[in-house]
Amino acid sequence: ATPTALLVGTGRGAQLGVLIKGPEVLESTRKVDTVVLDKTGTVTAGKMTLTEVAVEPGTDPGKLLRLVGALEDASEHPIARAIAEAAARAGCPLPAVTEFVNVPGRGVQGVVEGHAVLAGRDSLLAERAQRLSVELAAAKRRAEQEGKTVIAVGWDGQARGLVVVTDTVKPTSADAVARLKRLGLTPVLLTGDNDAVARRIAHEVGIDQVIAEVLPQDKADVIAGIQAQGKVVAMIGDGVNDAPALARADLGLAMGTGTDAAIEAADITLVRGDLRSAVDAIRLSRRTLGTIK
Ligand code: ADP
Ligand code: MG
Repeated sequence: ATPTALLVGTGRGAQLGVLIKGPEVLESTRKVDTVVLDKTGTVTAGKMTLTEVAVEPGTDPGKLLRLVGALEDASEHPIARAIAEAAARAGCPLPAVTEFVNVPGRGVQGVVEGHAVLAGRDSLLAERAQRLSVELAAAKRRAEQEGKTVIAVGWDGQARGLVVVTDTVKPTSADAVARLKRLGLTPVLLTGDNDAVARRIAHEVGIDQVIAEVLPQDKADVIAGIQAQGKVVAMIGDGVNDAPALARADLGLAMGTGTDAAIEAADITLVRGDLRSAVDAIRLSRRTLGTIK
């Protein structure tokens, strides 16, 4: 491979909406056989909306939304933004939060209106002996089977209810996955979200392999595990959480619409945040290196 031909490839990449860090990147792109895709913000739009609030008997749903809205207002997570926006839209000003703690990949906690409030995965609440009633646990499973994300909410040592948020699959994701498969690549969905939600989204876009409920700090280890099976792995992601996995992968691709941390860690940026450009980048590298062999 001559450097000139490789640079032609990277120039064409810019036209296709992919920014390639250096010509040597195309070489690793060509060998990729497995493509790991982050769910939120990569396969899905990452713009969540709140669709439901459910409470245990005796809990005021307005209060639950106010407390969890105030708490999530302190977090940058797409789930948090959806909840804080819905609470603000519901009218009342959001109360102040003290002692805020973000538990990465699991939830948030803080003190609001004198209550020690906890919101996140139900396992986070269960660890502190805050368990959802049988009725709400069933409502949670139903929502998850529909591909929705459920956040359990509790305060003062008791589970009080849940909020449901939904994301939408990007209109181009299924097409991009189909084209990856046609190139002989194996797509894998990777997420911190619940397994039922992940399976539903994977099914919607045509991905057969799902690795769910992975903590942010463990995403890079998952990539290393796939590499240990002899695979050459591309990772596509957008979040701060994804940066170590993007760096660990043989090829990292960041959504241009994503965080700076992801873009810095990646070899290729998909400028328009369109997954189909990832397919274009892989095809481009094969063609470029094919012509100069
Ligand atoms: P993803 O891999 O989809 O980007 P994360 O690893 O960021 O997901 O989060 C995984 C899970 O942790 C979420 O599905 C949610 O249950 C919980 N979680 C993370 N951040 C928050 C938050 N700010 N509020 C409530 N729950 C959260
Ligand atoms: Mg993401």
